[in-house]
Amino acid sequence: QTINWDGICNELSGLEIIRDRNQLTKLSQDYYHFSPILQPLLQDKIADLVVRPLNETEVLKVAKICVQYQIPLTVRGAGTGNYGQCIPLEGGIVLDLSKMNQINWIKPGLASVEPGVKLAAFDKQAREQGWELRMVPSTYRTATIGGFIGGGSGGIGSINYGQLRDRGNLQAVRVVTMEDEPRVLELRGDDVQKVNHAYGTNGIITALEIPLAPAYPWAEFIVIFDDFMNSARFGQALGYSDGMIKKLICICASPIPSYFAAFREEIPQGKHCALLIVAEPSLEAFQDLVREFNGEICYQKSAQEANKGTTVIEYTWNHTTLHARSADPSLTYLQALFPFDPELKLIEHCYHHFGDEVMLHLEYLRTQGQMLPAALQVVRFTTEERLNEIIRYHEDKGILIFNPHTYILEDGGMKTINIEQLEFKKQVDPHGLLNPGKMKAWLEH
Ligand code: FAD
Repeated sequence: QTINWDGICNELSGLEIIRDRNQLTKLSQDYYHFSPILQPLLQDKIADLVVRPLNETEVLKVAKICVQYQIPLTVRGAGTGNYGQCIPLEGGIVLDLSKMNQINWIKPGLASVEPGVKLAAFDKQAREQGWELRMVPSTYRTATIGGFIGGGSGGIGSINYGQLRDRGNLQAVRVVTMEDEPRVLELRGDDVQKVNHAYGTNGIITALEIPLAPAYPWAEFIVIFDDFMNSARFGQALGYSDGMIKKLICICASPIPSYFAAFREEIPQGKHCALLIVAEPSLEAFQDLVREFNGEICYQKSAQEANKGTTVIEYTWNHTTLHARSADPSLTYLQALFPFDPELKLIEHCYHHFGDEVMLHLEYLRTQGQMLPAALQVVRFTTEERLNEIIRYHEDKGILIFNPHTYILEDGGMKTINIEQLEFKKQVDPHGLLNPGKMKAWLEH
């Protein structure tokens, strides 16, 4: 059936609608181009309309019209995802939630927000009361809370609180359904996992209750090392130093630091580095630890200065890849979680086995009571076949790869078919209109 878009716009009158082709192109894209595999698959995808609701009532109106005319609907926060999560594979409407950006309330340890609130904007306000988000992606300045829950996994803070999907990191959500008569459902406790990291394939989140962490005065550091394994062991030791309060432990093997233009003066050629955020009261203990591992602090910013200008945050997690790619666009990346390995033998093996083809970039996180090194390795891309061979090599060694070169939910971060998410989709999106083409379980059911 062909859709009469002028008619749809009439029915949506009163809402903010975007039809300008340049704008539609921009609002149909994300950062999938970090992957040479996704680039040709997604570059031409474009929405027919973008709608920017201001509140839940407007979301319900759009949902109703999409069901009535069987129009695909893809939700968008800030569009900073890396795997085309918010790219409308089948066109239709992109629902841009960036204007639903109210903070409903902040209480000690818990907040309620609309999905379009930007992470940094939230933290700015919460810190006035001594609280902040438990974890943020390195895109925290632009990304939204709804998009982080919909398509993110963890980030700065994961060293203390694990990943977004760990029980307790999301308390409740309100979700608009795509049933014949769209409704608002509230999911609490374990039920939030039905929509947590589901790429918006089974509900439009219109409000979230997010647990918070105490805010500290956070200082930033770069520590350099001559030996890579020493830097990795230092990161591990800092992670295990329960008496020291920290928020970020990122380790980059040489030559990755040479891609960081802003730190060219500070980080000498050939050194490996650790990018770190530590609470100011832990500073003395931190300096002792650096000494113990023969590191050298080459850059530091006090908590007060860290709020302005360059921040190490924007050199960690997937920003590391971004800087590597600005220096050499042929570079790409992987995402991995190393198994519990107190002696870091697998890391040492991979470091020597791949050399410069797979440059090690570790991000330590604490999950299920264990400190594990996650990794976003920078990869010298040659062919898709070789990339798959590298992935298989890791998997054969027991290293989990969250493949960033696929837009299919289950083949990326989730790894397995999630029956709970599928069952929820059958209930709330029976026509399969939400972000079509992304959930494998739905395509195969
Ligand atoms: P979008 O990209 O707009 O959306 C993400 C997904 O969520 C889409 O599938 C969308 O449909 C869905 N969605 C959005 N809003 C809703 C809603 N209200 N209801 C239902 N579904 C919704 N990610 C990390 O986890 N950690 C990192 O450290 C990190 N670093 C990054 C660094 C760079 C340089 C880049 C480019 C990306 C990085 N990312 C990282 C990925 C991404 O930036 C984050 O996950 C971010 O939080 C996504 O938020 P967004 O608002 O841009 O979401």
